[in-house]
Amino acid sequence: MSLPASPVHAQRLYCHTPSVRGSGPVAYWMSRDQRLHDNWALLQAQHMARTRQAPLIIVFCLVPSYSGGARRHFDFMLTGLRQVADSAAKLGIPFVLLTGEDPPGELAGFCRTHAIGTVVMDFDPLRTKQQWQHTFAGHWEGECLEVDAHNVVPCRWASEKQEYAARTIRPKLQRQLPEFLDPFPELVPHPVPWRGSLLPEPDWEAASRSLAAPEYGPPLSWSSGEETALDLAREFIASGLSAYAEKRNDPTAGAVSGLSPYLHFGQIAPQRVALMARDANWAPAESREGFLEELVIRRELAENFCFYNPVYDCFGGLPAWAQQTLDDHRGDHREVVYTFEQWEAARTHDPLWNAAQQEMVQTGKMHGYMRMYWAKKILEWSASPEEALSTAITLNDRYELDGRDPNGYTGVLWSIGGVHDRPWKERPVYGKVRYMNDRGAARKFDVQAYIRRFFPA
Ligand code: FAD
Repeated sequence: MSLPASPVHAQRLYCHTPSVRGSGPVAYWMSRDQRLHDNWALLQAQHMARTRQAPLIIVFCLVPSYSGGARRHFDFMLTGLRQVADSAAKLGIPFVLLTGEDPPGELAGFCRTHAIGTVVMDFDPLRTKQQWQHTFAGHWEGECLEVDAHNVVPCRWASEKQEYAARTIRPKLQRQLPEFLDPFPELVPHPVPWRGSLLPEPDWEAASRSLAAPEYGPPLSWSSGEETALDLAREFIASGLSAYAEKRNDPTAGAVSGLSPYLHFGQIAPQRVALMARDANWAPAESREGFLEELVIRRELAENFCFYNPVYDCFGGLPAWAQQTLDDHRGDHREVVYTFEQWEAARTHDPLWNAAQQEMVQTGKMHGYMRMYWAKKILEWSASPEEALSTAITLNDRYELDGRDPNGYTGVLWSIGGVHDRPWKERPVYGKVRYMNDRGAARKFDVQAYIRRFFPA
């Protein structure tokens, strides 16, 4: 019986080992896209395994000291992965949890022991994952394929260079959306059982104990996992999307989707959410378009930035005009300069800033409008732009459940360093970088209600 062609668009694939043809079992190295369904990388792995009548397994490499991670991130991630493992078992797909500080080495050892023929990896633009994947592909003798399962339009294909702004990537993405925004096929029960050497059973308790991650902030109440993510998306599309255009900038309105932690950990595909939003024809066009602008255009612009800019988290990653203007204003008088400890403890003179910081620490997610204000004030009250970038990125990665994400680095560099923005009226400290103040916030929402909620006197 011949199988149909791969359901995965050829432009989602990138072969790291063009001269190698794999045979035998296929392993999906799950990393960023931690879900069973709507996952182009897993669909491609299953297609390859079925074509060659071979078993399919999922392997995840847990790195106990993964940089910047806190307990809250690992707890959320492990809960979700456990659900993936249980659901995969029901489809005849074993799930292997490797633990170690050197994922490429751990995985290569595992693949040799178990005679894996092909490894399918998911796309991630950030440097740690890029390095792991290159190292693995360079040291392992089998076939190695990357699939972009995170972007609607695959990042490598959407553009071959760093884009200047939303206005330059938008037409490229919009032109290609009809081709890529297609429905997902089902992952089917895998017809070929694992018949190689004994696979290690995931030991979730031991994995959790092995973590070196510090406990930053209180435990969070988010429930994690693929089903929760889908429920949340359905609920938002059904009852929240309609008011998105009008209320999305009001942090007291509860009008945003709350999906970013699930998107960050790949528990839901952006493409699934985009399909749901596109088809929600009861919601005003302005809300649907506004939401898709954030979910697809802005998010994929951030992927583009981090993929093509190797210093996506540093001063050197800023556009030339912004570096110049921030340099010109290095010596400006600051009304106050805070230390990292003061920032982290929300001990500034500004109750609005403190409330935003507390929202992030206490809930694991700061509202998007406040993130801009929060980062810009860090620039205004830090000794240098470099220190501001470092403070904002460290706090963002430490406390936001969706931190350590391309959106985070791009959002911080947009706020502090004009990435994807344009020069504005020149003023002290900021130079020509766009300014924000609490009067602007007060025009948009009830600032006192927000402060009372997160930073009561
Ligand atoms: P919704 O408004 O419901 O949007 C849905 C999805 O669209 C989001 O989940 C996200 O994937 C995408 N999106 C929304 N706004 C943006 C944006 N401005 N840029 C890119 N994508 C967007 N996002 C993160 O995912 N992780 C971060 O660590 C992060 N840090 C940020 C730091 C700063 C300083 C700034 C200014 C922005 C940051 N963002 C970050 C982007 C944005 O604020 C969040 O994605 C959004 O607030 C998440 O909430 P939501 O899912 O309820 O958003």
